Amino acid sequence: MKGVYVLIVEVGNNIEATIGALGNVKFQKGLYAYVGSAQNSLEKRIARHKSRNKKKFWHIDYLLDSKDARVVNAYYKNAGKEEECQIAKKISETETLIPHFGCSDCNCRTHLFKIKDTSVVLKPGLIEFKE
Ligand SMILES: [Zn+2]
Repeated sequence: MKGVYVLIVEVGNNIEATIGALGNVKFQKGLYAYVGSAQNSLEKRIARHKSRNKKKFWHIDYLLDSKDARVVNAYYKNAGKEEECQIAKKISETETLIPHFGCSDCNCRTHLFKIKDTSVVLKPGLIEFKE
């Protein structure tokens, strides 16, 4: 399976985490949505995001390395990489941006958002990912 996915990440406390080259970023307790794409092995990518103790490669790996952050849900859509940024832009219309996160290789302002609730990710037509 390939496609675009959104991880719902719960941050259990107010934390500050070092996010690779981004440096220190503060995260308030709450729910976050991270938009990514996997143009092959979507299932493996989502499993990787949920796993602990891995090599850190993406910005999201650094956030998920915190004991206070965990993936609580994942949604996906069978779509090409271009839709990844369209979904990020759509979410940015209503949610709080965490600037420069996960968008090193595109022109988006971010691919991570602090969200009020998960309904925001359902609007672009994503469905829940179940193992
Ligand atoms: Zn983008």
